[in-house]
Amino acid sequence: MQGQLYDGRVARPWAVEVTIEGGRVIARAVEDAATGVDWPLDEVREISRSDGRYGLSRADEDARLVVDAEAWRALAGRSSEAIARRGRGREWRLVGGLVAAGLTFAAVVFIGVPMAARPLAARTPLALEARFGANMEKQLSVPFRACWDGSDSAALLRDLGQRLGEAANAPFPIRVKAVRAPFVNAFALPGGTILVTSELIQQAHGPDELAAVLAHEIAHVERRHAMQAAWRAMGAGLLLDAVVGGGSGAGQQLIVLAGGFADYRFSRALEAEADDRAIQILQAEGVSTQGMADFFGRMANRGDDPRLRQAAEWFKTHPDTAGRAEKARRAVRPGRPALSDDEWDVLDRVCRVLPPPKPKSRNDVR
Ligand SMILES: [Zn+2]
Repeated sequence: MQGQLYDGRVARPWAVEVTIEGGRVIARAVEDAATGVDWPLDEVREISRSDGRYGLSRADEDARLVVDAEAWRALAGRSSEAIARRGRGREWRLVGGLVAAGLTFAAVVFIGVPMAARPLAARTPLALEARFGANMEKQLSVPFRACWDGSDSAALLRDLGQRLGEAANAPFPIRVKAVRAPFVNAFALPGGTILVTSELIQQAHGPDELAAVLAHEIAHVERRHAMQAAWRAMGAGLLLDAVVGGGSGAGQQLIVLAGGFADYRFSRALEAEADDRAIQILQAEGVSTQGMADFFGRMANRGDDPRLRQAAEWFKTHPDTAGRAEKARRAVRPGRPALSDDEWDVLDRVCRVLPPPKPKSRNDVR
């Protein structure tokens, strides 16, 4: 009998000759003997029925055979009934599939977004992340006043960040800036800017400790953790918005995220990843991780020192400091200091050096 074969590769159907031989349905293209299908009869099922024609296929195959209903029943005999029954079973499976798809969709909204955050972050255009970071920095410049960036100290801080950034594989140039704040903290913003508080620089005993914190933040930049955090926070809102059609969700979420900086933190898994990567970055740069071990260790034992306890904001967002210090200690290899003593003395003053007074404008000279 004649039939048409849609082979799932080319759009136009092949005219085929259909036979049943030895319990198999064989359809061979008239124009091309190499094209065709050869299916066990008991795996064939009916997938459509219209205009006196049947669509037939086999599980998991894209190919579809279209035959005249009457001719097919004559050819297949009683097998055609079993084939139709298998088709109806498939309809029920389709309904079941739709229910499952609904559940999957719900899972994507409520569970899948955190899991999708990493691939989403990796696919976020760099320009978009950079713009996001610039906006965030502008917002942060209100609570955290920048230390003067024209000093030699600021230049040393920038250079140290750049040098460590080169040892990493960050998609953005690393720009380290010092900001005034009475607590120990450092933030990796989206787009490669890293803010370090004046108190953190005060509490760091030497350049290796500061380098350790910078390497950790650079790892956050390199792995685009800020975008992951953003997707995590926005994703569910975006998707729910798309479903219920509110239309305002995404923008709102973005503002909440950028404004609610207190909640700007990475998950434990991301922190552990950043620590591991920081150790690699320091080692690639030839800096000993002893500084990391010392700094984390001191912060972990801060309990007795009320000033440090209050100040160690960074360690609220970075839990298990003792465990992290231990990890750094195990990784210790000899290295050279991240900066010379003289350089450190200069860098250390980064938030104490003030810009020279502005020359009086002409309006003042009368
Ligand atoms: Zn971190």
